[in-house]
Amino acid sequence: LSLSTGDFSALESLFELSAARCLEDQVAISLPSLRAGTLTPRMLSLMAKLRRTGATVAPEAGSARLRAVINKGITEEDILAHAARLFESGWQSIKLYFMMGLPTETDEDLEAIADLAVKVLQCAPRGMKRLGVTVSVSTFVPKPHTPFQWEAQIGRDETLRRLDVIKARLAPFKKISIKWHEPRMSWLEGVFSRGDRALAPVVERAYELGALFASWVDMLDLAPWEQAFEDRGVDPHPYLEARPLDAPLPWDHLASGVSKTFLLRERERALEGKATPDCRYGACTRCGACSEMCGEPEIHVPGVKPRVNLPEPEWVASLRENAPEVELNAPPKAREELTRRDGHYRVWFEKTGPAAYLSQLELANVLERALRRSGLKPSFSAGFHPMPLISFGWALPVGVESREEWFGLFLREAASLEAIGSRLDSALPEGLHVTRVEGLGPGKKIPQPVSEEFLLTYLLPGDEAARRVAQWREFMASETFPWFSVTKRGARTMDIRPLVISVAERSPAELAITFCWRDNRYASPLKLAAAVNEGISLKDFTLTKLRQIFE
Ligand code: SF4
Repeated sequence: LSLSTGDFSALESLFELSAARCLEDQVAISLPSLRAGTLTPRMLSLMAKLRRTGATVAPEAGSARLRAVINKGITEEDILAHAARLFESGWQSIKLYFMMGLPTETDEDLEAIADLAVKVLQCAPRGMKRLGVTVSVSTFVPKPHTPFQWEAQIGRDETLRRLDVIKARLAPFKKISIKWHEPRMSWLEGVFSRGDRALAPVVERAYELGALFASWVDMLDLAPWEQAFEDRGVDPHPYLEARPLDAPLPWDHLASGVSKTFLLRERERALEGKATPDCRYGACTRCGACSEMCGEPEIHVPGVKPRVNLPEPEWVASLRENAPEVELNAPPKAREELTRRDGHYRVWFEKTGPAAYLSQLELANVLERALRRSGLKPSFSAGFHPMPLISFGWALPVGVESREEWFGLFLREAASLEAIGSRLDSALPEGLHVTRVEGLGPGKKIPQPVSEEFLLTYLLPGDEAARRVAQWREFMASETFPWFSVTKRGARTMDIRPLVISVAERSPAELAITFCWRDNRYASPLKLAAAVNEGISLKDFTLTKLRQIFE
């Protein structure tokens, strides 16, 4: 659920009403980055009964002083009590989310991040086997329409220095790990967060220079961005600096409803460390959003009333009365029911258009949700964290389309091949389309393809496409083709020539390439294409899987 779930005042009744159904279908409810104290003990117990996902708490700042500056409204006691309840309810690892580089931050505030993580760790009962606390830190990026829209953002070097302060303080604690948002990414986000129209040509130029998928750390390369800033004559640094309070801002013509007068007042209070209470539970602080309460001269939205905590309506009360009882202390639902395997299938599908940009992990999530919507009953794995029994063939690289993908599926209630195909197809999002379903034997093993055929299409002028095609001819004429790559397991050199069986020229700019994946030797076809056509940009060609070939 969303980041602001904890602000929904009817969360507890909604949660109770959904829990029985979620329990039945092994649906996890995950509440990311909740404000400490928003989960009641009963909600925590219910969540613990469902498929357990990670628990994230967002203190955002380590010291009470800095939490007051950002108006976080939670005390250290709240955070520790929340962590203790999570541990008592069975969570063994907790993620704590913090920001670094907040206005007025000092090294003491950074050390307080580490100290708070240690105190959270100490809330765990003794003897927890998989106990762990993860400190996740992002660089603060000032945003428009907030009290900090005039503040400076810390630079990349300063980000690394501040990270070191936290790391050094946490070094003795082996059960606390630290993760951080890539500082180069935060730098780029900072430029665009408070950018203006001068940046539009920079985005276009960076795209031309091959800056694709920049929000993925492994694809982030600042070189084309820096080149683009230079080519378009834009200095990125002023975008990260503090802005004069009376300077016109690029978003001044956009009305969010909250007045600039209020933002200035809040900024002043923040810098003095004065908290502003939440108007849902206290007095109106005249932000300008509700015309009837506010009385501020800058009223942008007439007729908007504040959303306050109202008494529970009758219909919710009646739903609650009729909801199936969830017995917290009941033994876990019989595993045999969920793990039963009544049918085994291979579902063939196409992955095209926007779906080509779903990663393998995202695809697995999409399919799991589509299965629920379709009403089909997947079998689950046994164990602590039951998962639907879905398996895949070779992972398709992101951005590559496929006319022939498949996944293996066990159902705990068998259905006809037609019913599986049509029910699943109607539950899939744009770009995913079931083409056929075949029945498989009861064993877990599914035959894998020994080779696959792809269509490589160059989006280049004739001469350039011809040069790239010639490189493939040379490749096929060679005996070996050593390819150096760096993977998570380190650097390696591999002969990729045996991985290509044939290359057929379908047109001057189209090649049908058959790759060989025998003996479990596999490399991403996208990377193989980039290895043969050295220096080619991802936007200069497309790759589509045409078919899979079995023994
Ligand atoms: S009651 Fe309305 S105008 Fe007053 S602080 Fe809340 S949202 Fe703003």
